[in-house]
Formats: sequence, C-alpha cells, structure tokens
Amino acid sequence: ATPTALMVGTGRGAQLGLVIKGPEVLESTRRADTVVLDKTGTVTTGEMSLQDVVAIGAAGPQEVLRRAGALEHASDHPIARTIARAAMRTGTLPAVTGFADLPGLGVEGVVDGRPTLVGRPRLFADRGLTLPTELRSAVEEAEARGATIVLVGWDGAAHGALAVADTVKGDSTEAVRLLRGLGLRPILLTGDNSAAARTVARQVGIDDVDVIAGVLPADKVDVVGRLQAQGRVVAMIGDGVNDAAALARADLGIAMGTGADVAIQASDLTLVRGDLLGAVDAIRLSRRTLRTIK
Ligand code: ADP
Ligand code: MG
Repeated sequence: ATPTALMVGTGRGAQLGLVIKGPEVLESTRRADTVVLDKTGTVTTGEMSLQDVVAIGAAGPQEVLRRAGALEHASDHPIARTIARAAMRTGTLPAVTGFADLPGLGVEGVVDGRPTLVGRPRLFADRGLTLPTELRSAVEEAEARGATIVLVGWDGAAHGALAVADTVKGDSTEAVRLLRGLGLRPILLTGDNSAAARTVARQVGIDDVDVIAGVLPADKVDVVGRLQAQGRVVAMIGDGVNDAAALARADLGIAMGTGADVAIQASDLTLVRGDLLGAVDAIRLSRRTLRTIK
C-alpha cells in the first residue's frame, strides 16, 4: 500500500507542476523545518533593470556597457542577460575570445583584443585591482540604495561600473508567509551584497538576522551544512549554477524550472512554473500523502 500511495502522491505532484525525482522525496519534503532561499531568480524575477552606467578616465559609458555586454552575452546569469540586452541595443557587440564564466563572481575574456573583467567588487579585490576613489564612491552609493554593482575593467584596471536592480516575483511574499505558516523558517542566501539582499528580504518578510549575503557558491554549501549540523532539516530552493552544490547537499533540493540545467539535475524536486508557491504545494502534498500512508 505504501508504494502505491507514494506513486499517487508523485502523480498528484505532476498535476501541480512539481517534478518529483522519486517517491522517497516526499519524506524529506514532509520533514523540512528550514527553507533556504536563493535570491536572484528564485525570490526575485532575475529580470533586472540597468539603472546606471558609470565611466571613469578616458572611457565613456558606451564603451563600458559594450565591453561588459560582449562578455556577458556568453553567460546565462540573470545579471549577464540584462547587461547583454542593454548593450545590444547600442549596436553590434565587439568580438570575444577566451571567455570564462566565473560562477558567483562574474565573467572574463578578451574583448576587442583587451583582457576584460566584469563582475562583483569582490572579484576585482581578489585580482588585486583597486578602485579609484570616484568609482569607489559610486559603488558605495549604489549599494546603499539596494542596487547591485557590476564592475568593468580591462588592461588590468577598473574603468567603470553598472548598477542593476532586481524585482521580487509577484508570489514570493505570499509564499514566504505560507511557508512560515507551515512551520518552516525562511532564510535568504545570496552572493549579492547585503544591502541588496536586505532590500529584497524586507519586501518578502524575512528579518535581517535571517539574511546571509555576500557568499560565494562554495560557501552556500557550507551554510546548508552548518544548518544541518544544528539539527535542522534543510530545504534549499535555487535556480543557478552557483546553487547546484547546495541543492545537492540539502535534505531537499528544490530547483526552479526556469533555472539552469545543473540546478535541476542536482535537485530532488523541480517547480516547473518557477514560482515559490510550488514549494508550498509540495510541502502540503507530502504531508497529506504521508498522513494517508500511516
Ligand atoms: P545569487 O546568490 O543571488 O543567485 P550569484 O551567486 O549568482 O547570486 O552571484 C553573486 C554575485 O556575483 C551577484 O550578485 C553579482 O554581483 C555577481 N555576479 C555573478 N555572476 C555575474 C555575472 N555574470 N556578471 C556580473 N556579476 C555577476
Ligand atoms: Mg539565483
């Protein structure tokens, strides 16, 4: 009887837009008491708006945007797509060779013959690239108002920055409220800066203490592991390449159907529609199904 009920449960899941890897997944879904939410593309739409382009020295804003766009064109990060789209509106982008995606950090490659680096301030610091005062104050100002800064550099120096901002998905606030009502503690986990993370957290009703920001992809796994070491049963919901390891590590990995293939492969359950209310459906379904079995 038990396997049959579980099969019925997973079948019902499919009707709700939940792709469940196997019947045993319902058990970890039922037991989860903590839900770790990735920010970009999971709680937010990932369709970012480009708010500002800053250029310093001899470079103009157009050149900063076009060089960044040329590189970002090869990445499928939500920030990358936004920047590439904006840059393409200015005309044909310069040629790129030697492209490398640096998950959770940015992108690099040779644009128009110049080694070019695009990404978060942390990436520039890691490469020993210091920011001129003018650029540093632009970064601070944009981050203070909750934007995400993408630095653009070439030939070994920073030449500009792009400020992008994200939008919370329509159903995220309601989903967080319902998850809490089901007894799960929501935690926002992101590689983005803490002001941007808190701006989103506040909109969906997550307290500052439950915001973990500025983490690298490898640290996302550690956060999940630390919570498990505290005895928590962790559901992790994410969409990106950078979330894959944490999704695999979590007791229940939930991927957005709209996200990267590796995230979907690493997870136990996929929310086909890519909205967080699917996670609420999954938990309710698991509790109903397993109650029937007992
Ligand atoms: P999240 O945890 O919110 O999904 P990521 O771990 O993918 O974010 O990225 C962390 C941060 O690294 C981003 O907020 C952004 O600042 C930067 N970043 C990552 N990928 C890119 C990219 N392709 N271009 C520019 N910045 C990037
Ligand atoms: Mg993401």
